[in-house]
Amino acid sequence: GATIGILGGGQLGRMLSVAASRMGLKCHIYEPGAGAPAGHVAERVFTAPYEDEACLRAFAAGVDVITYEFENIPTSALDLLESLRPIRPGRRALAISQDRILEKSFLNEIGLTTAPWAQVDDAATLEAALAQIGAPSILKTTRLGYDGKGQARIMSEADAPEALAAMGGAAAVLEGFVNFSAEISVIAARGLDGAVACYDPGENVHKSGILHTTTVPARISPNLRSDAVLIAARILNALDYVGVLGVELFVTPEGLIVNEIAPRVHNSGHWTQAGCAVDQFEQHIRAIAGWPLGDGGRYADVEMLNLIGDDVDRVPEFAKAKNTQIHLYGKADAKPGRKMGHVNRVL
Ligand code: ATP
Ligand code: MG
Ligand code: MG
Repeated sequence: GATIGILGGGQLGRMLSVAASRMGLKCHIYEPGAGAPAGHVAERVFTAPYEDEACLRAFAAGVDVITYEFENIPTSALDLLESLRPIRPGRRALAISQDRILEKSFLNEIGLTTAPWAQVDDAATLEAALAQIGAPSILKTTRLGYDGKGQARIMSEADAPEALAAMGGAAAVLEGFVNFSAEISVIAARGLDGAVACYDPGENVHKSGILHTTTVPARISPNLRSDAVLIAARILNALDYVGVLGVELFVTPEGLIVNEIAPRVHNSGHWTQAGCAVDQFEQHIRAIAGWPLGDGGRYADVEMLNLIGDDVDRVPEFAKAKNTQIHLYGKADAKPGRKMGHVNRVL
């Protein structure tokens, strides 16, 4: 069987490794931090910085294909790895999702609706952006943001200086505030042969910027359900994508607005572990290893609940609950805001 290389050793890498192992494949993890969640289940772990060329070469030499579980891998490392082994999903998907401005430009180019946005580099461009977009709006760093970090709300023009200061001098994008009735996401996959399979959209609730629950089915009309799936397929095809992709969408009276995309398995797709014969992790491994995709069919209604920080203390309670699947990531300390695990409850 093939050996899969995964850049990043967090919980997504861990669950990808478990899926690969179940399919008779091996995983090697590359992760700068020690004691990473994926390290406990993978065949080999390379613990070194992304600047360590010799270690990157040794990692690549041992694998047949390279994938990643987070977006912010330094370009220099990717350039080297790409010269040695195929990287799936490809570099364009990664470059686009690393930078909110490239991402929104790409989405608009392929005809998809985003929140109104404008690039912001300093006080003058923020003033111009506010004149164009107005308040309320959200200023976000273009790069490196996750779990709502690197964002500042602007309720009125008076908030502008503080919001700009919160960016710490980094390039930013101002987004009009979308008055959504719900947030949904589609997890979709495209195979090496170009076949596309989508999971049913899930409805997401965030708490303090962090995903709290995902529930399937999302409470949306059949029309919106097909719109969501068509949006995901359009993105996959435009990028000649191979692997699993997460698409976050806002539901509004005017239709769906794309918030952002993630070129990887996605937290809002964890419900597939309890709702589908082929979950998003197996689907991703199938895609990048050149297997046929699973069809994405769903046989149960599911609620996924994230265990953030000391939510993990509730595990004994969940362990007694009916139809509840427990996933823990093997992280040592339950710091506030840290994703420690999740539970999938079949409804
Ligand atoms: P993730 O962990 O999903 O990568 P992130 O840090 O990239 O998060 P976003 O997804 O951009 O952040 O925003 C986090 C949440 O903030 C969204 O799920 C949504 O609830 C809210 N939000 C973001 N942008 C907007 C917007 N333009 N209008 C209204 N709400 C927004
Ligand atoms: Mg994001
Ligand atoms: Mg998001």
